Amino acid sequence: MIIADFEMSPAFAPGVHHEVAPGWWYVFCGDLLLVENTTEGVCPLLGPPPQERGLVVTTCLFLGHLDGIPCFTAQCQEPATLGGTLRLESMRRLWRLLPKDHILLAGRALELVHWQHTHRFCGQCGTALQDVAHERARRCPSCQAVYFPRIAPAIMAMVRRGPQVLLARSSRFPGGFFSILAGFVECGETLEACLRREVREEVGIEVGNMHYFGSQSWPFPNSLMIGFVAEHTGGTLRPDGQEIIEADWFWPHKLPMVPGPESLAGQMIHWYATGADESLLTKPAP
Ligand SMILES: [Zn+2]
Repeated sequence: MIIADFEMSPAFAPGVHHEVAPGWWYVFCGDLLLVENTTEGVCPLLGPPPQERGLVVTTCLFLGHLDGIPCFTAQCQEPATLGGTLRLESMRRLWRLLPKDHILLAGRALELVHWQHTHRFCGQCGTALQDVAHERARRCPSCQAVYFPRIAPAIMAMVRRGPQVLLARSSRFPGGFFSILAGFVECGETLEACLRREVREEVGIEVGNMHYFGSQSWPFPNSLMIGFVAEHTGGTLRPDGQEIIEADWFWPHKLPMVPGPESLAGQMIHWYATGADESLLTKPAP
């Protein structure tokens, strides 16, 4: 059983192409999402396409249907002024404001807009790419190379030693803020090997007895986070001083400042702090 719940509801049916129409519009200006204050709270734009609202659209993609309503995303130039109920907001702030399906769809949208923007020309011959008709891909009309959206897998490692948990402070974190370890999977590596390597490189210890926890799409810009719980099997903490500047073992009732429930890391730490129910974990990795 997977604990972390970052899945779209069955009300969403993904799709690739649809003529531009009224519906849900996930409109980005840079990385900021255009949202509307309504009587029922904050939501993405529902209604006519952004070009009919006077916005200048540079990229437009169909995402699928949510409860039968077509969903689109668009990258727009930032308007000089916004209407009274509209505002631009960062995705991280919206995690706590938007309903789950909308924030997950906005994440999917942001990833696809970024992919479209960085795949305008063929990497082999430089020709302008074209959308493929029936799948999410772009093809070079000259050399026929095909480009699919790229996803970069990264593992998250919650390492335990008896009743304590390893939390570390990245050089990128504000003071006093700790999280579990994380790192990108390298070419040719399994998830398990990546976990062992990352932990060894960043804090100098060995781990084993890994259990899968859950996963989360992380669209900043195109990661898939894959969470494991593991146990310390040897070695003393030695932060590498570059990626990790501080690391320590913490008790569940004395945790430092940690990520919130909008992230897989935050959900894993919450699971640990509230009793670490082992029955919710999957079987050990082979
Ligand atoms: Zn080409």
